[in-house]
Amino acid sequence: MGGLRPWSHLAFRREAHYLGVGNPIGNLEPAMKITKVDVVLVDVPAIDPPFVWRKNIPGSDGAIVAGWLVIETDAGITGFASVGRGVIFKDYVDRRFRGELIGQDPMMREYLWERMWEMDRIERFPPMLIHVVDVALWDIAAKAANLPVYKLLGGYRESIPAYASTVTYSSISEFLDIASQFIDDGYRAIKLHAFGDAKKDAQLSLALRDHVGPDIALMYDGSAGFDLLDAVYLGHALDEARFEWYEEPMREFSVTAYKWLGERVRVPLLLGEVTDGAHMSAGDFAATGVATALRVSTFLRGGFTGAMRIAHLADAYHLRAEVHGFGLEQAHLCMAIKNNTYYESLVKDNPYTTLDKGIVKVINGSINAPKGPGIGFEVQWAEMGAPKGLEKYLK
Ligand SMILES: [Mg+2]
Repeated sequence: MGGLRPWSHLAFRREAHYLGVGNPIGNLEPAMKITKVDVVLVDVPAIDPPFVWRKNIPGSDGAIVAGWLVIETDAGITGFASVGRGVIFKDYVDRRFRGELIGQDPMMREYLWERMWEMDRIERFPPMLIHVVDVALWDIAAKAANLPVYKLLGGYRESIPAYASTVTYSSISEFLDIASQFIDDGYRAIKLHAFGDAKKDAQLSLALRDHVGPDIALMYDGSAGFDLLDAVYLGHALDEARFEWYEEPMREFSVTAYKWLGERVRVPLLLGEVTDGAHMSAGDFAATGVATALRVSTFLRGGFTGAMRIAHLADAYHLRAEVHGFGLEQAHLCMAIKNNTYYESLVKDNPYTTLDKGIVKVINGSINAPKGPGIGFEVQWAEMGAPKGLEKYLK
């Protein structure tokens, strides 16, 4: 297999297995092997009704071709992972990933994760694609262990509070109306994706604090809409309104710019959501002392493997590692990461609906641990129907 160093432990194991002499390090099960790697493309209609984000960036997606990665094994266990950009991902699978994966032991996730990063070096994958193989491998491993993924990661809790994470509504009064709806439904935490105008967002933040009182946690997400001057202005208002965190007000490529912001505002900064390189770029936000919390997710941070690396890095410095995004994978992370506080429940419309369409149910402001084994896609599909084209892979 290309890329294996002949002196590696992996090569030794493979050769020993091939020769039928057993595993060199003890009485372990023989290696499982990946036998098939497929991408099933899925047409996803436009989000209806659509929603908007801050000024100057596009709102909700139109119709897209998404996809599912399917990894089959000789043990009869199949792993799944979803991807939002199916055509681009299929191209990588056809040219790079399938050849790397066929014949490999899917339990060797750390090794295969490193192989993905080596492929990234030559291909420069979009950050939203580096995680997909890792997610499917964790699905396989957890199914082999007959556990939900969060317990295989190392379970920490069985439920966690959710915050209502808004899209951008039309006016301050509509934001206040929506906030009342959240509180009526049991949410105790709200995060704003607001207008992208520093003065107007400051007004909204102060008005929202007045509206909800002192006991509701409030957070703000800038989606990188500002420069340093506007980020400082807004940061002062968020501090005055006692916001719990200030997330990504500027593009995250310059740690120095954030260090300067951190020297000028008091509100805690939550950073490292979107930079390329997963743990490799998260480290500097911790090392410079500017982040009070780091962002983790499967889909921008290198899968479960990358997210857990960042969570543990953060924990070593007593930083939070706040899970970004919604859905089953992120719910598993929420249950496994000690230093995470909330599940992000993205909401849209008025009256509000959750963007995940109830896949992870928020009840009285909290979610419960997903059911396995694995990630639990099959549990979801049993309720809602499997995506078209995947039926042949379901037993
Ligand atoms: Mg964010």
